[in-house]
Amino acid sequence: MISNNIVRIKGLIDRAAQKRNRNPGDIRFVCVTKGRSPDQIREAARCGVADVGENRVQEAKGKYQLLKDINIRWHMVGHLQTNKVKDAVRMFDLIHSVDSLKLAKEIDAQAAKINKLQDVLIEVNASGEETKFGAPPPKALDLVKDMIGLQHIKLLGLMTMAPFVKDKEATRPSFRKLRQLQVEINNFLSTVNYEPSTVLSMGMSHDYEVAVEEGATMVRIGTAIFEEQNR
Ligand SMILES: *Cc1c(COP(=O)(O)O)cnc(C)c1O
Repeated sequence: MISNNIVRIKGLIDRAAQKRNRNPGDIRFVCVTKGRSPDQIREAARCGVADVGENRVQEAKGKYQLLKDINIRWHMVGHLQTNKVKDAVRMFDLIHSVDSLKLAKEIDAQAAKINKLQDVLIEVNASGEETKFGAPPPKALDLVKDMIGLQHIKLLGLMTMAPFVKDKEATRPSFRKLRQLQVEINNFLSTVNYEPSTVLSMGMSHDYEVAVEEGATMVRIGTAIFEEQNR
């Protein structure tokens, strides 16, 4: 089942990319494995999954230990508490959820201790909905300005979660907003000779095709991989 789902999802990602004359190879597929067992992750890896996403450090830690023998990249997609940062920088190749300077500084400090340059994304609340996490767009630009001086952090781009709505078309404005924000941020970054931000992590099981049409370079998909799909 996992194998069939992955093939189908990749086909739909390719189709959405081609619709906008994008290269399907530019879209990375992150398999979100929260709540799934190490065996399920192994199966996904056998089906070609190279990137897995977890949303809790504690849960990820157990799986990370058990799966050291397979070659996969680990992504932190959930909210990160400062007291979990030490473990997070030891495990994750990419942290998608930086939404405050306090968190960024702690990541920088912990990465410095192990001499790592930690790749991160800024999580943006692009929909303006009342959610607990994610910087509002104007704050995101301020955060970029404050973060670029941190020597052990490398800012690669932005992440957002669209509001959960039945009609997936209704997610499109949030994805557009994230892409526009990236243009603004890159205008700023070019003035300080920082490499442009290229990653847009957006799109989940429900809305990844819309996200790819709107420029996603990373999609984070869980349910559509691990559960029976009847579409
Ligand atoms: C759970 C989760 C996903 C995947 O959601 P699905 O609807 O299962 O595809 C993506 N991003 C984040 C931040 C998540 O917590």
